[in-house]
Amino acid sequence: MEFEHSARANELVGRVAEFIRTEIEPVEAELHAATRTAADPWLPQPVFKELQAKAREQGLWNLFLPVAEPGNEQYGEGLPNVDYAPIAEVTGRSFLAPYVFNCNAPDTGNMEVLLRYGTPEQKKQWLEPLLDGAIRSAFCMTEPDVASSDATNMSATAILDGDDVVINGRKWWSTGIGHPDCELLVFMGRTDPGAHRYARHTMVLVPRSTPGVKVERLLPTMHQYDEPHGHGEVSFTDVRVPASNILVGLGRAFEIAQGRLGPGRVHHCMRLIGLAEKALELTLRRGTSRTAFGKPLVDLGGNRERIADARIAINQARLLVLQTAYLLDTKGLAGALSEVSQIKVAVPRMAQDVIDMAIQLHGGGGLSDDFPLAAAWTSARALRLADGPDEVHRNVVAKLELAPYLAQYREAK
Ligand SMILES: Cc1cc2nc3c(=O)[nH]c(=O)nc-3n(C[C@H](O)[C@H](O)[C@H](O)COP(=O)(O)OP(=O)(O)OC[C@H]3O[C@@H](n4cnc5c(N)ncnc54)[C@H](O)[C@@H]3O)c2cc1C
Repeated sequence: MEFEHSARANELVGRVAEFIRTEIEPVEAELHAATRTAADPWLPQPVFKELQAKAREQGLWNLFLPVAEPGNEQYGEGLPNVDYAPIAEVTGRSFLAPYVFNCNAPDTGNMEVLLRYGTPEQKKQWLEPLLDGAIRSAFCMTEPDVASSDATNMSATAILDGDDVVINGRKWWSTGIGHPDCELLVFMGRTDPGAHRYARHTMVLVPRSTPGVKVERLLPTMHQYDEPHGHGEVSFTDVRVPASNILVGLGRAFEIAQGRLGPGRVHHCMRLIGLAEKALELTLRRGTSRTAFGKPLVDLGGNRERIADARIAINQARLLVLQTAYLLDTKGLAGALSEVSQIKVAVPRMAQDVIDMAIQLHGGGGLSDDFPLAAAWTSARALRLADGPDEVHRNVVAKLELAPYLAQYREAK
């Protein structure tokens, strides 16, 4: 078993880390404060585009791109999951970095969908400006009125009408829709309620400016609006787009959703590992620089054990995610189904616990905005729901684990 990252990954990790240290970290706190106090917090601060331009100049751009499949060579040869994973970890240390490098969700997932499933025209119209960072996108699946953990429940509709598709319904938690550059919505709607449960839904590319699309409100995640990106509740009323905006074909949404999620979960999890590392690093600094009861904080009570447990938990989680990345690269999603769900359960919980420990050791300061810990905790907590709640992923793991035993049980009966 090989534990070293490849030379290419190491080189990129070093350059990305250096860029974050020298270009992003010095301005990040100021930039968040400026966003919060701006007359319009939904207008991105100008320095953001400047950082993007610098990152791009240095070739630190779209590093999430997967290894090119036939027909996609013109969009660049990306990295295998095992090579991108450590880069995602480094970018996770900063809330801004994934955006600066054009490697943020949900744009990355939407770009992968377009790469893999888009027609040449769809790629030209939407993928190219997304890869350029000229526009942003949202993924509109979850609905306020149905339990969306079960994606077969989605009740918004996408109905073929002559040469058009007509869309009606309401979505929420559409991440990224608050951004003024968000021009593309990847919408999932029900087309044929009589079809097999996994063949009822269709994915459609909807320009945000289409008449009938309305952002009803932006939702806070535990009091944070995540400006300038945000999460929206969006209504679709008789929205009409050409049938050529359908992805792959009517009733093919589940196939696309499956293909979209494997690498995306590795990215989310590695970013959270980076965030947990940052929380541990802040804990070590704080715990060795503050004194109470005549000792550094780290030497009080069970704090050393908590630090050791955090290190063990982070390292365990990283190994599991890297193994998942390796399986995705070598066996595809079908060979990594259980692991993709395992990391989706294990990593947000681990990060939530480590960050919670860091908050506690920071005392009152840990809950303030003077440290990035409160926002980090919210991020980890949200990831226990976003992309499917823990329970759904545990069910996947248990189902795969039990399958041969239940088959024997049924045979024996
Ligand atoms: C910050 C954030 C960003 C998001 N971004 C997006 C986005 O960009 N696009 C998008 O479409 N959606 C997005 N979501 C939505 C997210 O994917 C859904 O919230 C999630 O899939 C759960 O759906 P639900 O909220 O309808 O919960 P429900 O389906 O109502 O489930 C509620 C609870 O029921 C329990 N439950 C459900 N199923 C099971 C089960 N099988 N076994 C045991 N218990 C179960 C769980 O405790 C679950 O949390 C985002 C959510 C958050 C918080």
